[in-house]
Amino acid sequence: MSDTVVIDANAPLIVVGCGNTGSPFAALIPSIPGAGPVLFVDYDSYEAKNLVSQRILPCDVGKPKAAVQARWLRRFGVRATAAFVGRIEDVPWGWLRGGILVSCVDSRGARLYMNQVAWRLGLPLVDVAVDGPDLLARVSVYLSGDDAPCLECAWHEGHYRNLAKEYHCDGSTAATAATNAPSALGALAAGLQAIEVSALLGTGLKAPAVSRQAMFDLRNQTCTVTRFTRNPACRFDHQRWDIRILDVRPEDVALGDVFAEAALSREPSALSLEHRRFTRALTCANGCGRIAIPLRLADRLTARQRLCRLCGERNIAAGFDLVDQLVLTELSAAERRRSLAQLGLRPGDVFTVSAPDRSPVHLQLACNGFAHAPWRKV
Ligand SMILES: [Zn+2]
Ligand SMILES: [Zn+2]
Repeated sequence: MSDTVVIDANAPLIVVGCGNTGSPFAALIPSIPGAGPVLFVDYDSYEAKNLVSQRILPCDVGKPKAAVQARWLRRFGVRATAAFVGRIEDVPWGWLRGGILVSCVDSRGARLYMNQVAWRLGLPLVDVAVDGPDLLARVSVYLSGDDAPCLECAWHEGHYRNLAKEYHCDGSTAATAATNAPSALGALAAGLQAIEVSALLGTGLKAPAVSRQAMFDLRNQTCTVTRFTRNPACRFDHQRWDIRILDVRPEDVALGDVFAEAALSREPSALSLEHRRFTRALTCANGCGRIAIPLRLADRLTARQRLCRLCGERNIAAGFDLVDQLVLTELSAAERRRSLAQLGLRPGDVFTVSAPDRSPVHLQLACNGFAHAPWRKV
């Protein structure tokens, strides 16, 4: 069992996914002693068909799921409840630090992302999943540590093949197939999750499902417990990052100055954000020949940058125009003067400055946490 995760009794809950499992889990939060603050994360809105299967009212149809659950929970006095209407991949890491990740998603990609962020930041990850046709529900808790297994340790080739189907070559994601799980199965999974979260908050590391999978087979009325071990062939590096806070606003710091801040400015240093790429050039999809050079995070282009200024068609970035890192020696003087905000970075983002044969330096732009966020809050 890991001994490197220290859980604060007031640790924020980051509830990712407000659907079949997430909405019944939200209903259980007021009964978890000391729970809160809570951040709900979901990019989707409720549909009329959700009325019979999820814990919502007719007036909630058409509204963002995260906002609906946050509003509902506030009525019970759970403090600092907020909603992020977007994907977990877009939540600033600064909002997640010190929290417990509660995974209620049915996307392998989101699950994989949460596993890696949990390890980088040293967060507990409580993960549940359901299988509707086979009436299965399972729960696992992962705590980062030198010998602890991560979620990816149990993955095999089939998991990665299915992951590739979720993510397209252009970086977009396919809609995840609905689990078609009965709402009772989602409620069971939510109950299992609430027990684990209560245990983490109340007794530190003694949650029953740490480094295990408890699988409940309702069709055959059996429960199977599998103990996970660290897989030496795991594709993930399991590294926990030592992250230093950079107490500046992204608009006030120039790209070139960041290398000096990391004391890595005299070498072929590079700046990167894990799971993100930069675009160095955009080409008009219409073929009019116009090329834009935005130098920005590829998934955070502005509305103007997304469209060709000559013909109005959409701009695309592909191949060599997308880079994993910005290498200092390849940046022009004008590019080095650009602010981190112009590159698309936001308060709370974590970035890495690295150089050959040197330890990477991980820096986080200061932020006040989700409870004080001026944007996307309910
Ligand atoms: Zn692993
Ligand atoms: Zn064009």
